[in-house]
Order: sequence, then C-alpha cells, then structure tokens
Amino acid sequence: MNVKHLEVKNFRNIERTTIDPCDGVNIIYGENAQGKTNLLESIWMFTGCRSFRSSKDSELINFNSKTANLSMDFFARDRDQNAYLEIGEGRKFILNGVKMKSSNQIMGEFLAVIFSPVHLSLVKEGPYERRRFLDIAISQLKPKYAVTLSQYNKAIAQRNVLLKDIQLHSELYDTLDIWEDRIAFFASEIIRQRLGYINKLSFYTDEIYSGLSSGKEKLDISYNQQTVVVGDTKHELYENMKNQLYQSRKLDLVTGFTSVGPHRDDLSIKIDRLPARNYGSQGQQRSAALSLKLGEAAVIKNFSDVQPVALLDDVMSELDTGRQNYILNHIKDWQVFITCCDPAAVKNLKYGMKLEMKDGICKKK
Ligand code: ATP
Ligand code: MG
Repeated sequence: MNVKHLEVKNFRNIERTTIDPCDGVNIIYGENAQGKTNLLESIWMFTGCRSFRSSKDSELINFNSKTANLSMDFFARDRDQNAYLEIGEGRKFILNGVKMKSSNQIMGEFLAVIFSPVHLSLVKEGPYERRRFLDIAISQLKPKYAVTLSQYNKAIAQRNVLLKDIQLHSELYDTLDIWEDRIAFFASEIIRQRLGYINKLSFYTDEIYSGLSSGKEKLDISYNQQTVVVGDTKHELYENMKNQLYQSRKLDLVTGFTSVGPHRDDLSIKIDRLPARNYGSQGQQRSAALSLKLGEAAVIKNFSDVQPVALLDDVMSELDTGRQNYILNHIKDWQVFITCCDPAAVKNLKYGMKLEMKDGICKKK
C-alpha cells in the first residue's frame, strides 16, 4: 500500500499543498505549528476512521473555508486507485469515481497505522487504553469480533443492572444464571481472540524493540487477566468463566458491578522484566508504544498480505541516535511518513525523501 500523490485543500492550516512521496521513508520536517501533524492527519482520514486527535469534523476545516477537500492517488490491491474526500456538513467519499454510501464503506480500502504522542498513553495510562488498542486491532482483522465485544458489553451491563435490582427483589436472584451464561459465552471468544492476537503481535514487537534498542533490551508483552480464566478450548474457557462469575456473585452483589471478565483485563508491557508503565524511561516508553504500533502493522501484513502505510508523528524526540537511526533506515519495504522538528535528526537518512513544511505548504527538499 503506497500513497503516490496527495492534494490537500483547506484542511486545518493547509490551504493548498501537494506531495508526491517516495515508496520508502518520507521525512516531513519543519518548525512547530507549521502543519506537519495536519498533513499526517489528512492521510489518516482516508482510512475512514475518526481523526486521531479531534472528534469533530468541523475542526478539520480551515477557518476561512466551508469545506476541506482531499484527493489521493494510491497503489493498493495491485492497481492504481484514487480516493477523494470532502469534509463539510458531512463527509463525502468517492473511490475510483464511485460515490460511497457511508464512510464505513471506505474502511479497509486504504490501510494505515498511526503513531502520535497521544499513543504514548498505551504505555503510560491505565488498562482501558491497552484493551482498546487490542480490541480495535482485532476488530480490524476480524469484524465479527467487534460484534461479540458489543454483545459481551451489553450482557455485562444487564448483569450489573440485575445485581442492583436483586437488592430490592431477591426473587430475581435465579435469573443471574441467564446473563452469566451469555457473558461466559462471549467472554470465552474474546479471551481466545485476544490471546491469539497477542501471541502473533509479540513475535513482531520482540523483533522491533530489539532492533530499536540495538539488542540491548528486551520487550515482553502478554495477556494479563485480572481473574485468571484458563482453558485450552473455547468450551473450557466458557466453563471456567461461568464458574468465576458464580464465585464472584457475593462480592458483585455488594458492589453492583461485575468484577471478573475480559473487561477488567490488561495487556502487560514489560521491558527487561519491569512494567514499562511504572519503570520505563521516556525513551523506553516511546520505543514500546512504537513497537506496538509497528507490530500492529506487521500483523495486518501477515494476515492480509497488505502492508499498511505507517504514519509516525513526532516519533524522534526523546530517542537517542541509535533508536532514531533504526527508525530512519531499518523500516524497509513499506512506506513511512515521519514528522520531526529537528532537521539534524534527518541527516542520517540513507534512502528516502525529505519534505519541508512551512506555513501549511509542503515542499520537496
Ligand atoms: P509541532 O511541531 O508543534 O507538532 P506541527 O507542524 O505538527 O507542529 P500542526 O499540529 O500540524 O503543527 O498544526 C499547525 C497549526 O494548524 C496550528 O498552529 C493550529 O492552530 C492550526 N490549525 C489547526 N486547526 C486549524 C483549522 N481548522 N484552521 C486553520 N488552522 C488550524
Ligand atoms: Mg505536530
């Protein structure tokens, strides 16, 4: 998957700019507030996902305009394609001349992974961020997983309501069984999928982190279950989960909250055996978050044989020269966009294209 040509009009501070990136590493450098992140964001919009930094489309449109227009020529599925996106009152997507009915339809046509400073929360914040990362990554590969997850969350919400109702109507106690059966059914699938995904992901994150740290440090990721639900088969997981729910009833009736299940689980991230969240340095945390994101792309490549475009926003800061050089020169065979402020960080780029961003205009150097 490669971006061949991009035209950006009235998107944030970019009134009009055009780029023809190379198929390898593209460095976009420039001073603060020139539009580097905005340019990455404009490419990201073609994934059909929401912006990684604002929830309102209106914020994406230049202050002096009513619409933002993005047009991109890209190579995917062995052919040249064009995607056009207009952001105004709503979003209008045109793919190869055909108008899409909804922005969901564009999903999967252009694939990218994004790493920006907000993604440091993957390592720095609580389990919610990491569960979300896992759930989105798995849903992208297997859309059915998203359905299971939503059914699971609904069943948990129903059990929580019931836990509170039982305090007033004890005769409802027996109906707990119905919801626990549903929860266990969906939970067993969620746990199985997460374990499978982390197993694949760790293969790549190991390798990437080792490369970043020149083999000096080791990254370990694993599934961290708050209440351990084990089983070699889906049925064993189901039985085990049901049992755990049954045993948690006493406590859960007091709190009115379901205390066991995959909604409480976490992705453990350790560097040299220590939890990265509590012990990692800035550079180590950044390297770990980046490894997860690049690993996510590698899993997509392995699963679908499509290599997503990597959008790396401000990835260089806080990293030493060894780590910067790894990013610049060892991510091969795929298209990468990297933004940075300091052109000195770019001088070690062996192959690739340098672009300067100034006042919303991007020029090849
Ligand atoms: P840094 O190096 O600090 O990360 P950057 O080059 O990545 O800087 P951007 O985040 O791309 O900078 O933002 C550039 C400018 O775009 C900001 O000053 C911001 O005020 C401006 N901007 C954001 N949204 C809009 C908009 N809708 N219309 C016009 N300007 C906008
Ligand atoms: Mg920026």
